[in-house]
Amino acid sequence: MKNLIVRTVKSPHILVILLVIPLGGFFLYARYSASQFFVCLAISLGVIIGYLIYAYITLNERQAVLSLERSECEERLNLLQVEIAHERQANTALQGKITNYSLLKNLTEKLCASFTLADTSQIIAADVNGVYDRAEMTVIVYLLRSAGELSLIASLRGQEPLNLKAKRGDLYDQWVFKNFKPLLVEDTKTDFRFDSEKISTEDGRTIRSLMSVPLTVGEKTVGVLRVDSSKEHHFSTEDLRFLNTVGNIGAVALENAQLYERVEDLAIRDSLTGLYLRRHLLERLSTEIGRHLRNDTQMSFLMIDLDHFKKYNDRFGHTAGDIVLKTIAMILSDMFKQPGDIVCRYGGEEFCVLLPDCNKKKAGKLAEELRKRIEGQTIILRRERTHITVSVGVAAFPTDATTKEELVQKADVALYEAKASGRNRTVMAKETI
Ligand code: GH3
Ligand code: MG
Ligand code: MG
Repeated sequence: MKNLIVRTVKSPHILVILLVIPLGGFFLYARYSASQFFVCLAISLGVIIGYLIYAYITLNERQAVLSLERSECEERLNLLQVEIAHERQANTALQGKITNYSLLKNLTEKLCASFTLADTSQIIAADVNGVYDRAEMTVIVYLLRSAGELSLIASLRGQEPLNLKAKRGDLYDQWVFKNFKPLLVEDTKTDFRFDSEKISTEDGRTIRSLMSVPLTVGEKTVGVLRVDSSKEHHFSTEDLRFLNTVGNIGAVALENAQLYERVEDLAIRDSLTGLYLRRHLLERLSTEIGRHLRNDTQMSFLMIDLDHFKKYNDRFGHTAGDIVLKTIAMILSDMFKQPGDIVCRYGGEEFCVLLPDCNKKKAGKLAEELRKRIEGQTIILRRERTHITVSVGVAAFPTDATTKEELVQKADVALYEAKASGRNRTVMAKETI
């Protein structure tokens, strides 16, 4: 029933048929049974039919106008929908850009406050890790050393530092470094530029996709920043673009940190021998004394002086004397290179060595070894084979001294004794405890 009504309203023909049948019956009845009423009825009907025809035409016209307006509205709606989608896309892109800018701002602030290479590279690695924040991802920072080789300086997997064996970078990093260009490898197995079979990782890591950018300051490359993953298609060109921006900021910070460390090194190292200066030794001595007191361990201190160096200088000249000092410095650096050992040019032709976590007995043995090694060293000056000897005083903390001044003084006294008893010998400080 409901369907019939709807169909009837929608189709005017059915309506007309439904009206015409009863009307026709009524008309025939009036024509043959009441002729006067028939005339009135015919006129009224004529008026009604005329009005209906007029109404129908008007309605049709209005319908046409309305449908035109409707299609215009639909067109406008479509346009608006496209515009909204466009705006939405632009909005998302803008939000992404704002996020990226705030990340870059944070990174710049952190880098501005960092002066050492270790801190700077850690900040870069951690921030890159935070930006992409994806599982199975490793961030590596390489620094270009003076020998033209890449050297690993920071590596992170997730939030954890990763101890990588491959310290010089692989073929991908070499490519980035040599070509001075960013690199995106979406799938290492299908990338035609590199033979993935030939690229073996020392660390046995599976690398299926990676991106890598050169860390450049102007025309100079200071290192390489790389992110890789064990999953293929892990990075997009947009990711690479952002990594490049991070790399540009990071490169300047790394360059600054390198300069800062170099300046700091210049301030604490002797220009002739490259050894630490006395001021640095005394600073380190304070720290080491505190540490050894806390740990209740022993450390030793050697004071070394060249024997009759004045005569040597007088005979061969000051420049030749400098060569001797450099030779002794090289021997010292070569002998005492355990982590924590400090070799220092105390002044003139006096050197000293701080040996943390080394007892007096062991220090005495090392001092003798050193003395013999210097004695056996041939130094060629003016085509002449020459030799030099040293006297060594050994003191230990806390057995011989309780303060840094006392430790140095005890070693100095022992050295004086070595000189007084004939030179070219090692003397152990007298214990006070
Ligand atoms: P001793 O065995 O008693 O130590 O005798 P010595 O001649 O080594 O000691 P002395 O203190 O009399 O002389 C130290 C000399 O070291 C004097 C100085 O010319 C020389 N000297 C100090 N610094 C330098 C330096 O930087 N270069 C050169 N070539 N000589 C230096
Ligand atoms: Mg001397
Ligand atoms: Mg001296």
